[in-house]
Amino acid sequence: MPLTTWATDYVHLVLATGRHDPNFVDAYYGPPAWKAAAEAGEPRPLPAVRAEAARLLEGVAAAEAGPGEAVRRDYLRGQLGAVAAHLARLAGQAFTFDDEAEALYQVRPPVTPEADFEAALGRLDQLLAGPGPVQDRYQRARERVIVPTERVDAVFQAAIHEARERTRQHATLPASDHFRVEYVRDKAWSAYNWYQGGGSSVIQVNLDLPITIDRALDLAAHEGYPGHHVYNALLEQRFAQERGWVEFTVYPLFSPQSLIAEGTANFGIEVAFPGVERLAFERDVLFPLAGLDPQDAAFWARVQAELKLLAFADNEAARGYLDGHLDRSQAEAYLMRYSLRTAAQAAQRLRFIETYRSYVINYNLGEQRVRDWVNHQGGTADQPTRRWAVFVELISSPRLPKSLGF
Ligand SMILES: [Zn+2]
Repeated sequence: MPLTTWATDYVHLVLATGRHDPNFVDAYYGPPAWKAAAEAGEPRPLPAVRAEAARLLEGVAAAEAGPGEAVRRDYLRGQLGAVAAHLARLAGQAFTFDDEAEALYQVRPPVTPEADFEAALGRLDQLLAGPGPVQDRYQRARERVIVPTERVDAVFQAAIHEARERTRQHATLPASDHFRVEYVRDKAWSAYNWYQGGGSSVIQVNLDLPITIDRALDLAAHEGYPGHHVYNALLEQRFAQERGWVEFTVYPLFSPQSLIAEGTANFGIEVAFPGVERLAFERDVLFPLAGLDPQDAAFWARVQAELKLLAFADNEAARGYLDGHLDRSQAEAYLMRYSLRTAAQAAQRLRFIETYRSYVINYNLGEQRVRDWVNHQGGTADQPTRRWAVFVELISSPRLPKSLGF
């Protein structure tokens, strides 16, 4: 059978799996009838869906790949492996954190020693001078750069506009490119991009969480340009539309594609806004729009730089909690100490970890692996044009972590 037949069955499999986990299908813009069929009646029983995943894995491994299709077969095998593992989990099979991450995202997350976090905390302790624990001083500094709710939309629209203009200079966006913002509450995430197909996205921003000024640009670039929205739009255009590769009309969340998606969305922030340019834009445009003091911009940027390493504390908290080495209050305490979160923020993050589990590695480890890969291709920070070119090539490619040598 040609790969296209297997790819069609893969789409049906992902939709059938979605009946057993409402978070699984992140985006679908294939034939509406397929989705309607998957959603009609009772869900297919889990053992039958698992048997189908096993059949497809075997079939794709043995399928003839036509010219230019080797990468397509690699993609399908990687994605199918993750679907099979996720189905095993849904059927009750227990995975350790590391095994789950490897089965779903094709990477084994390294352990970050606590000493590394302590060293970063020590640097922040120096930077955030004053009495009391560094966590409290960080929160006080953070309160100075919270965007007032009534100004969030203006700040956010300005950030999106700038991120889009910068991206357009390096990537050809579909003529139908469209990106809409909605404000929501009561979610496990701070923002979410829902790709609709046809070059269109709806991004939802959770207003329950106070939005600091740096988050405006992070979210605009991560969810929008050149992040998730552009990644989805380019894959749809280049593969689903131009080549008829139907597997690119569905996006299963718990799959290796997510490490590339989150890694490029996070790294894309500094591709679009390299350090000094970011500082200039935030200080001169976003701080005034938010009614904040532009003189705080440089200091806050230095604090943010130290938080990069501390992002990996999420992995350690998640591993400890999900593997049963930390109970809830210990995991929350860990997040408060090393991620500098308040008690409420730590509880919110643990809620995210319970829902999305080892997915947390895709943000920090994904970003690190994507940065390393782009640098390795010559896209170093001192070669911004090359950096953009390598980056755009990656977000319009079906390659998964394994085929990038991660
Ligand atoms: Zn994301």
